[in-house]
Amino acid sequence: MGLHLRGSDRLIVPTKLVCLGANYPAHAAEMGGLRSPFPAVFLKPPSALLPGGGAILLPPQSREVHHEVELAVVIGRRATCVAPERALDHVLGYAVFLDITARDLQAEAKREGRPWALAKGFDTFAPCSEVASARDVGDSAGLAITCHVNGEPRQSSNTGLMSWGVAEALAWVSERMSLEAGDLLAMGTPAGVGPLVAGDRVVGAIERVGSVACTVERRAAT
Ligand code: MG
Repeated sequence: MGLHLRGSDRLIVPTKLVCLGANYPAHAAEMGGLRSPFPAVFLKPPSALLPGGGAILLPPQSREVHHEVELAVVIGRRATCVAPERALDHVLGYAVFLDITARDLQAEAKREGRPWALAKGFDTFAPCSEVASARDVGDSAGLAITCHVNGEPRQSSNTGLMSWGVAEALAWVSERMSLEAGDLLAMGTPAGVGPLVAGDRVVGAIERVGSVACTVERRAAT
């Protein structure tokens, strides 16, 4: 599954989706957490990608699926132990990402000290817009970021409120795992996360980056 680079025929195929948690203080607070001195990092499988949007499928294993709108950084060339000052040299562009989350399964995993993979990794749980080039976007801090459900505003914030900026987070992650060309680094969600139900239409948007629109459906029994 690949992502389109706007204005080009190029298809971007990530080897992994690296996600930050609790990177906006207001969202960390609504999740009952305190600001950590280090970013919380988890992975979503590339099989969860929903390139360009489409239908988010609610899995039968969850009764509470939430939207989380996020800025995603798209890696342009391999980043291993890069310094923050050089980190942006490794950025191809940016996309609007929805970190769809089975909140009930995540809460259960947190309680039991298990990883979040199953709560975050269902097929269609990673809708992503086409990719805007880094040159077109410019400074990734200070961009309005919103999520609307059925036309109602649910999340409205600014990427300038992130605890860890793109260069700092990319450098930090690259000291722990190499980021390959095409990989996504999702920068965490602002406050206002909430439930999605079948029939909803969800739209995530970021100033100068673009938008991604999805419908919500129950996954058919197999
Ligand atoms: Mg998230």
